Formats: sequence, structure tokens, C-alpha cells
Amino acid sequence: MAQRNTWQRERVREALADARGFVSAQSLHATLRDENTGIGLATVYRALAGLAARGDADSLQSPDGEALYRACTSTGHHHHLICRSCGLTVEIEATDVEQWARRTAESHGFRDAEHIVDIFGLCRACAQARDERDAD
Ligand SMILES: [Zn+2]
Ligand SMILES: [Zn+2]
Ligand SMILES: [Zn+2]
Repeated sequence: MAQRNTWQRERVREALADARGFVSAQSLHATLRDENTGIGLATVYRALAGLAARGDADSLQSPDGEALYRACTSTGHHHHLICRSCGLTVEIEATDVEQWARRTAESHGFRDAEHIVDIFGLCRACAQARDERDAD
């Protein structure tokens, strides 16, 4: 049983690494189903949560409230620019945000403050495609 869980987790980790941006458990599960791996959705959820807990994956909530995951190339604290159309993700540093968050927390007497800041928008290619479609 433990053995089986290990290969399933590993397979989920690989599928996540192959994804180009943030993906939901459902879409990752759909990919694995297409490959006939027989890995269930609950297993995908558990594997992703485990990867995120160990810091092997980044997780965030989409504006729709859906949990999204990604195997990030950066370790340590960073932020994301995410295309809401194609999922393209850019990892960014945000020095201004770090300073603002620390100052704001301190001015209210908060210590050990953490923050989550991710920017959702349309990437250049998707914005261009939309403009061209609208022009027709
Ligand atoms: Zn990241
Ligand atoms: Zn895009
Ligand atoms: Zn930050």
C-alpha cells in the first residue's frame, strides 16, 4: 500500500513539473487519466497537498477560489504573475511589496507577518489573441 502511494505521488510530481504554469488538481488528474495511470482524484489532491506542505510545490488560490499548484523553480519567498487564460507563470521578486508589508504590519504592532501576493492577468500572447479576435 505504502509502495503504491509512493509511485503515485512521484507520478503526480512529474506531471506537475511538466505543466507550464499553475494547474488545479482536476486538470492534473485529467492529464494523468489520459495517460491511463489509474491515479484517482483524491490521490492527486493528497499528493499535491503533501508537495506543497514540504515546499516542493507552490500553491495559491485563483480569483475563483480554486487551489492551484506549481513546481516552482525558485526556492524561498517569491511572487507570481499568472496568465488567467493560458496559465503561463512568471516568478517575480517584489521588493516594494516586502517593504510595504513589513512597514504596514509593524505600524499595527504585528510581528512575524507573512503575505501572499500573486498577480493574475492576461499574458502578452493571450492579450494579442484577444485583440485580434475582437477586431474581426
Ligand atoms: Zn513560485
Ligand atoms: Zn496567456
Ligand atoms: Zn513577498
